[in-house]
Amino acid sequence: MMGARVARLVVIGGGAAGMSAASAARRTDPGLDVVVCEAGGFAAYGMCGIPYYLGGTVPEPENLLAYPPSAFREKRGIDLRLHTRVTGIDPAARQVRLAAGTPAARAPSATRGEPLAYDALVVSTGADPVRPPMPGLDDRRVFTIRSLDEAIGLRRLLASGTVRRAVVVGAGYVGLETAEALVCAGVDVDVVEALPGVLGTVDEPVAALAQAEVERHVRLRLGARLEAVDRGSTPAGCLTAVVEGEEIPADLVVIAVGVRPATDLLIQAGARHLPDGSVVVDAGMRTSLPDVFAAGDAVALPHLVLGRPAWVPLGPAANKTGRVAGTVAAGGTASFRGVVGTAVVKVFGLEVARTGLGLAEAQAAGLDAVATDEVSRSRAKYYPGSSPLHVRLVHTREGRLLGGQLAGREGAAKRVDVLATALHAGFTVEDLAALDLSYAPPFAPVYDPVLAAAIKAARGLAAFTGGSP
Ligand SMILES: Cc1cc2nc3c(=O)[nH]c(=O)nc-3n(C[C@H](O)[C@H](O)[C@H](O)COP(=O)(O)OP(=O)(O)OC[C@H]3O[C@@H](n4cnc5c(N)ncnc54)[C@H](O)[C@@H]3O)c2cc1C
Repeated sequence: MMGARVARLVVIGGGAAGMSAASAARRTDPGLDVVVCEAGGFAAYGMCGIPYYLGGTVPEPENLLAYPPSAFREKRGIDLRLHTRVTGIDPAARQVRLAAGTPAARAPSATRGEPLAYDALVVSTGADPVRPPMPGLDDRRVFTIRSLDEAIGLRRLLASGTVRRAVVVGAGYVGLETAEALVCAGVDVDVVEALPGVLGTVDEPVAALAQAEVERHVRLRLGARLEAVDRGSTPAGCLTAVVEGEEIPADLVVIAVGVRPATDLLIQAGARHLPDGSVVVDAGMRTSLPDVFAAGDAVALPHLVLGRPAWVPLGPAANKTGRVAGTVAAGGTASFRGVVGTAVVKVFGLEVARTGLGLAEAQAAGLDAVATDEVSRSRAKYYPGSSPLHVRLVHTREGRLLGGQLAGREGAAKRVDVLATALHAGFTVEDLAALDLSYAPPFAPVYDPVLAAAIKAARGLAAFTGGSP
């Protein structure tokens, strides 16, 4: 069903959400004028692939592009304007303002420093890296990992042969993926993390496995804060990362201490938002501003386990919410149901995955949650290559599944999807234990590790409720 016809859709941001929105809008209404304003020099690329480009697994930046810019312009009729930053939204006038004086290269159709009128607007400006306020972060050898433009600069520096040591600040998934990439590129790496453990988004027993793996490859400094980056007292221009008073020499520093929603434009225009800055949208990705939609890392989404909106900035939801925003903005019908917070990361030789709530998150949300841990094996134990797989299930004392986490050398990454599906379906641990999952010795034990954990959790329920085992 089509809604009111719009003549021009403007999209701010050419990332996963923005280009999905533009393409969906074009499919919904082939006559629509679709303009995408992207501040950087690339659009529609796999941000998640950047660490693998840095480490050399992906040879060229172009390999990360879903489609070259010309494909959007020539095949899809989308007016993609690179190097075009939007500096303001005027919802009353239905205009965005473009930054003046940005280079015209690669953007022949761009109109600079002028208002651009819209009938409908999709804001998909993503997230900004947090840069702690401290001296020295403006040095050209200090990087955040948040755009392909910046990653190209970093890889060029690596290729110059001048980088022997690097400090990565932050042991979340971006910090650890970057540390691994630098190790792959032959760099000696220190990882500095203010928290007492790595991967703050997974529970301690699972994070401890990741930590042991990280420590096999880099020097890990936990409970330690970066205080400054200095260029002074070390030889030949080498940087010094000052960590708890200790001076660590480095040819390169990466700051990966987290991200925040890049929603200043929307908030300045008056859009409703959560305290963390993520913008509130309905199921059709409409913001509180008329004919203004938002998608991707900029928005809070319904968290199906928490039962309220939450900010979970990840790639799959960015693509899907972009598609919904573009469809609805162009007059079509679509809706987004929500997320359960499913994520997976390769930490050197380990797969670490999570979905739903961790134990502390569940308890902080007021749920009477407990955790069940079970270590089984990735394949039949007699089959070569089998390795331990840790499964943690978080559930209420009555058995409602709230989340799950896995870590192991193989088999964690895709098994988490079974748990994510179970969360979408509102399963109990007993429902999970009853699933008919596949079995053959090269792929799983006869009781898959997910089933083994669910059976253990279901048995434990009797103890919680005082029943017989
Ligand atoms: C190193 C790294 C690895 C990741 N790995 C994974 C992973 O393995 N799995 C996963 O699920 N997620 C991963 N993510 C997260 C995932 O990349 C994001 O969730 C996703 O890119 C969000 O898409 P988006 O379109 O909302 O934002 P972005 O992809 O950030 O796009 C936003 C775009 O808006 C542009 N922009 C911002 N402001 C303006 C403005 N004022 N005017 C014009 N343009 C503007 C920016 O230049 C940017 O291109 C990773 C992120 C990083 C940084």
